[in-house]
Amino acid sequence: MSRSSFALIGEHLAHSMSPFIHKQLFKLSGREADYRLIEIESDKLESEFDLTASQLKGFNVTIPYKQRVIPLLKGLSGDAEFYGAVNCVDVKSGIGHNTDAYGFLKALEVSGIELSGKVLVLGNGGAARTVAFEAARAGCEVTIASRSDKGGLLGKEIARRLGCEMEVLRFSDIKGGYDLVVNATPVGMYPNVSASPLEYEQLEGCRALFDLIYNPCQTKLMRYALRRGMKVGGGMPMLVWQAARSHEIWYSAEFKPADIEGIVELADAEMAAQFSGPRSIVLCGFMGCGKSSVGKALAAKLGMEFVDTDALIVEREGKAISEIFASVGEEGFRQIEHEVCVEAAALKNAVIAVGGGAMTYERNVKAFEGCTRIFLDAAFDTVKARIGADKSRPLFDEGAVKLYNSRLPLYKRASDHTVDANGGIEETLERILDLL
Ligand code: NAP
Repeated sequence: MSRSSFALIGEHLAHSMSPFIHKQLFKLSGREADYRLIEIESDKLESEFDLTASQLKGFNVTIPYKQRVIPLLKGLSGDAEFYGAVNCVDVKSGIGHNTDAYGFLKALEVSGIELSGKVLVLGNGGAARTVAFEAARAGCEVTIASRSDKGGLLGKEIARRLGCEMEVLRFSDIKGGYDLVVNATPVGMYPNVSASPLEYEQLEGCRALFDLIYNPCQTKLMRYALRRGMKVGGGMPMLVWQAARSHEIWYSAEFKPADIEGIVELADAEMAAQFSGPRSIVLCGFMGCGKSSVGKALAAKLGMEFVDTDALIVEREGKAISEIFASVGEEGFRQIEHEVCVEAAALKNAVIAVGGGAMTYERNVKAFEGCTRIFLDAAFDTVKARIGADKSRPLFDEGAVKLYNSRLPLYKRASDHTVDANGGIEETLERILDLL
C-alpha cells in the first residue's frame, strides 16, 4: 500500500472537521493516506492551482472556491454541471464533482426522513440551493424562506429550470404545516447556540426537520422539533456522507451505512470535545503592551498553558525573528506566522500571546475565532518607555508611532474585549480576570 496525499482547498480552514472525517474514512478502507488543509489566498488560486493539484491524488474544495475552480478543470460530472459548483476533484481525470446533494439525500435516508410533500427550505445560500433543487427534482411542493430578495431569484431559477411552481416567503410569514423543514442557514450554529431561525409556534403541524448545522449536533431548532414529536436529523451525517462519496470517486471505496454511522458518532464526539470546555484566550496588542508578561501571569492564575506565537516561530525555524525577516522578507515571515497561528488556535485551554502584527491579518483573526480575543491597550508613551531601549525588536524605530496608530483600530476590530494595559502586570491581570 502506498501513502498518497489528499486535501481540502479553501481560504480559511482553521476549524474544519474534514481532516478528522477523511482520516476515519481512509482508516475504514484500509488505506494509508494524508489529508491536509491547504489554504490558498484569494488572489493566488489560479496561479497556485496546478502546482497544488499536481502534488495530490484528489482534493475537496470549499468556500469561496467551489465555482472558481471550474475553469481550471478538464471537465465536470453531471451533478457539478447541474449545480455549477465543485467540491471534489479527481486529479488523474481532472474531473470536478459535486457530492453535496448526494450527502443530503443519503443523510435524509439514514435519518428515516422522506423527501416528499410540502418542503420548507430556510435560507437561499449555497446549501439552500442544493436542498431546494433536490426537493423540487423529487417532485415536492417547495417554499423558500428568505430574509432578502435573493430567495425570489433562487425560486425563479428553480421554477425556470425544472418547470415547477415555487413559493417564497419571509421568515416571519411562516405558519407551519410542512412535511419537512430544512434549515440551510447558519442560525443556531456555534457560538450562537441560543439562536433559532424559527420560533416554536412556527413548527406547528410540521412532521420532520433536517438541520444542516453540525456544530452543535443538536440545535435549538432541533430541540423545538423534538418537543413537537417531529422526526429530526442533524448535519453531521450529511457532512460524512458527502465526504464518503469523495472516496468512492477517488478510489472506488465502498462504505456500509453502519460504518458511516460509526464515523458520525466519532465526529460528533470530536466536535463536542473541540468546542466544549474553556476557550483559549488570545492576547494581542503592540509590542510592549505586556502580552507575554501578563499572559504568563494569567495562564498561571487560571491553570492554563502559556504559548507565545513568536517563540513558537523561533523554535520552529531555528532562527531569531530578525533573521527570518532578513532571509524570507516580511511576506515569508507572515506566512510562517499564519501557520503557527492556525496550530496555536487548535490548542484548548491555553493563553496565547500573538506577535504585534499577527492580528492585523484577517486570516489570523479568523483562525482565532473560537477563542476569547483580548486587546491589551497601552498608550504609545507606555510601550515606548517599556521597550524603547530594546534594539532586538524589529520595526521599532522612528516609524513606530505611525505603525502604532495604523494598528490600533485593527487590534480593536480583531478583539472581543479591550483592556487598559497602561498599569503594572497585576493591575492588567485583575482587569482581565474581572472581564472573564
Ligand atoms: P451561505 O451560502 O453563506 O448561505 C447562508 C444563508 O443563510 C443565506 O441565505 C443567508 O441569507 C441566510 N442567513 C444567514 N443569517 C441569517 C439570519 N440571521 N436570518 C435568516 N437568514 C440568514 O452558507 P451555506 O454554505 O449555504 O451554509 C449554510 C449552513 O449550512 C451553514 O450552517 C453550514 O455550516 C451548513 N452546511 C452544512 C453542510 C453539511 O454537510 N452538514 C453542508 C453545507 C452547509 P442572506 O443571503 O440574506 O445573507
